[in-house]
Amino acid sequence: MRLRNIPRSEEVLANSPYVVQDPAAAKGKWRELFGVQGTAEKTEKKLLNLEVGTGKGRFILELAGRNPGQLYVGLEKFSSVLLRVAESQQELMLPNLMLIRGEAELLTTYFSNGEADRIYLNFSDPWPKARHAKRRLPSREFLARYDEILSPDGVIEFKTDNRELFDFAVDEVPFSPFEIAQITYDLHHDEAMNEGNIMTEYEERFSGKGNLICKYILKRKQ
Ligand code: SAM
Repeated sequence: MRLRNIPRSEEVLANSPYVVQDPAAAKGKWRELFGVQGTAEKTEKKLLNLEVGTGKGRFILELAGRNPGQLYVGLEKFSSVLLRVAESQQELMLPNLMLIRGEAELLTTYFSNGEADRIYLNFSDPWPKARHAKRRLPSREFLARYDEILSPDGVIEFKTDNRELFDFAVDEVPFSPFEIAQITYDLHHDEAMNEGNIMTEYEERFSGKGNLICKYILKRKQ
């Protein structure tokens, strides 16, 4: 998603209390940053969920609003896109949602080993040229990064209407420490997997055109 450059983006993001200005400094301290007090023994551990490539943020804003007992971080590389999420969050003021303007390639500099519990990839850019395969967010290279930052029971959820990207993603799983726990090639007609589904902007647009939505959920190999 490329929006025109919006001059106020940098200023709004720099002044938003919901945008973490130095995510590398937050590494290993995300729960503290959310103000979660006490040790894991004393308080119920709050799950930390991360969406990589939020776009305008409809998904993560809705998800965080529905689950006030969990923590959410939205990562997006373009300031002019994250601006939309930050402005919505400014109105909603969800205490359990923080945002990063950053690159998925740097995830292991933002999160420590096992710090996150769930990663959402929604309608990730397809990078159709073979030489760009490593840039695809469900590639084996990215799965290795997710492996570093996910807790032992951590999961990855990926959905897209792009069948070529989805087939690629499925083929990459055996080259990772993960396995497919659930999969569908028609999410909206899969009663079990569609339960509680939150439509993203792209999902609404492309399912509206009749495209089927594919989704998998990965967990670590047993
Ligand atoms: N997830 C949204 C949805 O489903 O409506 C947006 C989908 S859009 C096709 C992909 C988004 O991921 C874009 O906003 C893009 O800027 C962001 N993105 C792509 N590669 C990224 C990366 N390496 N790091 C962070 N964000 C990335």
